[in-house]
Amino acid sequence: MNNTKYVFVTGGVTSSLGKGIIAASLAKLLQERGYSVTIQKLDPYINIDPGTLNPYEHGECFVTDDGAETDLDLGHYERFLNIPTSQANNVTTGRIYQSVIEKERKGEFLGKTVQVIPHITDEIKHRIQILGKTGDFDIVITEIGGTIGDIESLPYVEAVRQLKWELGGENAVIIHLTLVPYLAAAGELKTKPTQHSVKMLMQNGVAPDILVCRSEHHLNDEIKRKLALFCNVQKQNVIESLDTDTIYNVPNLMFDEGLDRVVLEKLNLSTTRQPKLTEWNTFLERYKNPTDSVEIALIGKYVELHDSYKSITEAFIHAGAINKTKVNIRWIHSEELTPENVEEKINGVDGILVAPGFGYRGIEGKIKAVQYARENNIPFLGICLGMQMVVIEFARNVLNLKDATSAEMNNKTKNPVIILIKEQKKVNQKGGSMRLGAWDCQLTKDSKAYNAYKKEVISERHRHRYEYNDKYKSQLEKAGLKTTGINPETGLVEIVEIPTHPWFVGVQYHPEYKSTVLNPHPLFVDFIKASLQYKK
Ligand code: GLN
Repeated sequence: MNNTKYVFVTGGVTSSLGKGIIAASLAKLLQERGYSVTIQKLDPYINIDPGTLNPYEHGECFVTDDGAETDLDLGHYERFLNIPTSQANNVTTGRIYQSVIEKERKGEFLGKTVQVIPHITDEIKHRIQILGKTGDFDIVITEIGGTIGDIESLPYVEAVRQLKWELGGENAVIIHLTLVPYLAAAGELKTKPTQHSVKMLMQNGVAPDILVCRSEHHLNDEIKRKLALFCNVQKQNVIESLDTDTIYNVPNLMFDEGLDRVVLEKLNLSTTRQPKLTEWNTFLERYKNPTDSVEIALIGKYVELHDSYKSITEAFIHAGAINKTKVNIRWIHSEELTPENVEEKINGVDGILVAPGFGYRGIEGKIKAVQYARENNIPFLGICLGMQMVVIEFARNVLNLKDATSAEMNNKTKNPVIILIKEQKKVNQKGGSMRLGAWDCQLTKDSKAYNAYKKEVISERHRHRYEYNDKYKSQLEKAGLKTTGINPETGLVEIVEIPTHPWFVGVQYHPEYKSTVLNPHPLFVDFIKASLQYKK
């Protein structure tokens, strides 16, 4: 018997209210109460996954162990819950339609007209229940992307309506996250947008059980009563969610408001065991009371939108907290970095991180930043494209191969130190075809990486097409750029280091995806340690 219970999180009034953080915080509290919980995000756009989206459009693309390119909210889920997610945790309209259309072509609906209802909604319901049916979870939280009223989220709302009816009252609960704006001129909080949003949900047959109200000001009893009355929910189910200075406060805030308790009551699950949040609060305590600080330059070409580097900035928070150090980021646009201004722009930082990226734009600035870190003994971490820039910089300035570059930037160069390997040359479509997901990496003893991880074989997540060119390996090694991590099956180079430098590491994979509140990533932890030492 499968008795997984479902929580649906919808959003109203505006986007960016933080549905992902509310879902993750609720999940954290339920997990702390002893329930096994996972979170899923349904995205109402037609891309199969966000892998083909520009980071400016959608922020970072998060990658799971099983190689799914997903919404950045999955990063929050993993950082809060400390358990991995998978492809099943992120479904888009594109993927839903793709599978329905594939079934139609196979003849699975022979004789029938294929329609949004029931075929698309059935597929949505199936995708929602995949995680529940594994038997691994007591509770599955499903976040519906978009805002109620959007044309494109309608099939999801209908699927939720049907599922709630099919599962029965005690097995599903609907949370509606809304905004209660404050009108400064009137000195008042306004409930009308929430009333309208709930009305719209109800027109689609879905009645929320719980309202979570984002607000800049405290909701007094009268406002809560009004919201409850006009939105048809119990007053204790009107939860206030005040703005706060860090997302990591939200689980405690939601506990104080009783969100986890009312959810469990609705689902008829026990509330006896209280969430302790012991390790979580230890982290918060350290994070909020740093004894030192470092400044890290983050060199990237999407720096206008900090969400493009979400997992990296969160990894700095985790690594900073464990070192009791506040990590300040100096955002530097790689396109604005030139040989003339590199000194002025980077001067004074305690560490340099060259970020992942795609395409030619901004790479010369990244190469300059690598050179500056190498020549000035500044702690350095290069991630993915950042690692590839290390190889290029070293080849150009130490091996004196002036035209060294990546085949991604110029496939006619005489010195392609970064190349497409055989498997990638065959690929002729862009979506979902990179080297993706978890790959093992064998570390060289006594390297910086080994000293950080303290084990010989690690597993890290990848998202790239190009690779270190083995043909240059012996030259690069002889000149001082050592390979300290390789994939045991393919021999692909995953990590490079300069042992004569205080801390200089380039990784082909993305360590940031695996950093969580309770497990700060070892490379980030050591990078911050090295930056602290450099500062002193
Ligand atoms: N553009 C590079 C590649 O495809 C690096 C990708 C990245 O930084 N994620 O190999």
